[in-house]
Amino acid sequence: MPRRVRKTKKTPVLMLTARDAVRGRVHGLDTGADDYLVKPFDVVELLARLRALIRRSASQAGSRLELGEVVIGLAGGWWLASRAIRPIEDISATAVRIAAGDLSQRINAADTDSELGRLAGVLNSTFTRLEAAFAHQARFTSDASHELRTPVTVILSQTQTALARERNGPEYREALEACQRAAQRMRQLTESLLQLTRLDAGEETLKRESLDLGRVARECVEWVRPLAAERHIEIRSDLPAVEACGDAERLGQVVTNLLTNAIQFSRDRGEVRVATRGENGNAVLMVTDTGEGIPDADRPHIFERFYRVDNSRSRRQGHAGLGLAICKAIVDAHGGVIEVTSQPGAGSTFIVKLPAK
Ligand code: ADP
Repeated sequence: MPRRVRKTKKTPVLMLTARDAVRGRVHGLDTGADDYLVKPFDVVELLARLRALIRRSASQAGSRLELGEVVIGLAGGWWLASRAIRPIEDISATAVRIAAGDLSQRINAADTDSELGRLAGVLNSTFTRLEAAFAHQARFTSDASHELRTPVTVILSQTQTALARERNGPEYREALEACQRAAQRMRQLTESLLQLTRLDAGEETLKRESLDLGRVARECVEWVRPLAAERHIEIRSDLPAVEACGDAERLGQVVTNLLTNAIQFSRDRGEVRVATRGENGNAVLMVTDTGEGIPDADRPHIFERFYRVDNSRSRRQGHAGLGLAICKAIVDAHGGVIEVTSQPGAGSTFIVKLPAK
């Protein structure tokens, strides 16, 4: 534009630009502008610069500038400046709509080759992640409320029935026992939720000491053995000493969760195998069962909070679907990984890999 003006007339050119980088200003001056102003600018300064330009041009060429030329120059500058600034206005308008609560808004990032287009792309992907995080949080809160509502309803209906008329001793006992079970369920739920929240926030103080994963697992096996015995399930262990680094109590929680699941989802007289081994600088734990397995469609989700494969059956058995989510959060906090392989109808294997040091 400055070059075009220059070609036709000896008009002084004042660039009004939104590009305040040195590169942009130098480019403007090199291509014919006599002076520049970066948006937003002060009108008084604009007029002062115009007067100075007109003075300079009059003394050099001995001619007077026509007002029309100044106006045309100004309009061109404005046009260029507003074209440059339009994407920024787009970005800020979208940000305002997002701040007002509409997280589905995105910036129109059609011009992906320009710097602003690329910035819009980055912002859009940040907005997408934000939207997913908010949706996740909302789902978590709604699931947690839903889970807590069931035991509260049990307590309310039991107490209402018991208090409706005079009852005998065994009836009161029965109602109190039902209330106690519901309260225990609520305690278990709130403790799990608190632990997950602390792990998320990095507030769960995890010890970082050298430990023997084989020994941790042996203790857990003894802990769950009565559960397995009730259903004639055999636990086969191969648990040599394997060095790992972390918090023995929290890792014990992981092993116990995996073992109780393996027992719960096994058929009567089935078999659960638990093994440890060292592998490429990792301590590895494997828990295998001969149970019903996990359908392919569910497998990617079972570490999610409140996810249950057979929702109604698990809920009846008092499972909220937080056990594996807690296992994953603990393993993640140790810098490890937890994975599952499964053959529907034949059983599942959970594998935990932890750094040895
Ligand atoms: P919960 O605490 O309710 O048992 P988990 O998070 O431990 O929940 O497990 C989530 C879901 O994964 C369970 O409802 C169950 O459907 C499935 N699951 C977990 N372990 C096994 C297993 N060993 N065999 C089959 N399904 C399993």
